[in-house]
Amino acid sequence: MTVAAPQTSADIIRAARAGGYALAAFNAVNLETAQAIVRAAEATRAPVILQFSQNAARHGGLAQLAALGLSLKSEAGVPILLHFDHAEDEGMALEALNLGFDGVMLEGDDPATLRRLADAANAAGGYFEAEYEVVVKGERSGERHDDPAHLAAFIRDSGCDLLAVDIGSAHKQESKNAHLDFDRLTRLAELTTLPLVLHGASSVPEAELARATGLGIAKVNLATDLTLAFTAAVREALDAGARDPRNYLGAGRDAMQARAETYIRALGGAGRA
Ligand SMILES: [Zn+2]
Repeated sequence: MTVAAPQTSADIIRAARAGGYALAAFNAVNLETAQAIVRAAEATRAPVILQFSQNAARHGGLAQLAALGLSLKSEAGVPILLHFDHAEDEGMALEALNLGFDGVMLEGDDPATLRRLADAANAAGGYFEAEYEVVVKGERSGERHDDPAHLAAFIRDSGCDLLAVDIGSAHKQESKNAHLDFDRLTRLAELTTLPLVLHGASSVPEAELARATGLGIAKVNLATDLTLAFTAAVREALDAGARDPRNYLGAGRDAMQARAETYIRALGGAGRA
C-alpha cells in the first residue's frame, strides 16, 4: 500500500503559484494578533502563513513566539506555515529553524550566506525565501536587475525556494497608493517557476494584489494594514471605557481577523485548505 507523502511547506506555496492564487502571509507580534490570523485562516478554509519578524522577536522573544506559533499551528484546522520574516543575520535565522519555523527569509544578498540558509532550511524540511532585490527596512535599494542571466545565477547560487521581488510596493505605508509594475512581474515570472513574494502589500490596492496572484506572486506579506485595524479597534474600546485587557485586546483581535479574511479572499486563498 502506498501512502501519499505529506505536503511540505514548500509544496503548499508551490501549489499556490501553480494554481494562480497566493498565500496571505500575515505578521503577528503577540497572542491576540497570532490568533486573529489563525482564526481568519480557519474561517475561510485557507492555508495561511503566520509570520514573526526579527523585530517582533526583539519585543516578544524568538523562543516565546516560536512556542506560540507552533501551539496555534498544531491545533489549527487548516495548514498554517510558521515563517520567520526579515531575519537580519544568519544566526537568528538558524535559531528560528531550530525552534521549528517552517521557513525563513533573510535580509541580504550574500550568495554564500543565502546558500547555507537554504541548505539548512531544506535539511529541516522547510523552505528559504531570499530577496532578489533588496528592500531593507522599507528602503528600496533602487537596484533592479533585468538581466535574465543575473536572475538565473542568483537562483542557482542562493538555492532559494521563494523569491522576493521589487515590483513597486513599499513597507510601512499606510495609504494604498503604490502601484505594481505588471510588465516587470510578467517578465520575472517568465524567467522562473519559483513562487514569487510581494512585500509591503498594504501599500497596494487590493485589485492589484488579486491581479498579481495570477502572474506568479504566491506569497503576499501583509502587516501594516492589519496593525492599523487592530489598533483602531483597541483605541475605540479604550475610548469606550474598557479596562480589562481581554476586552480591548479581544476587540483588536476580532477587527484584525475580519481584515485578514478580506485579504485571504482577495488573494484567492479561501477554500484551498
Ligand atoms: Zn518585508
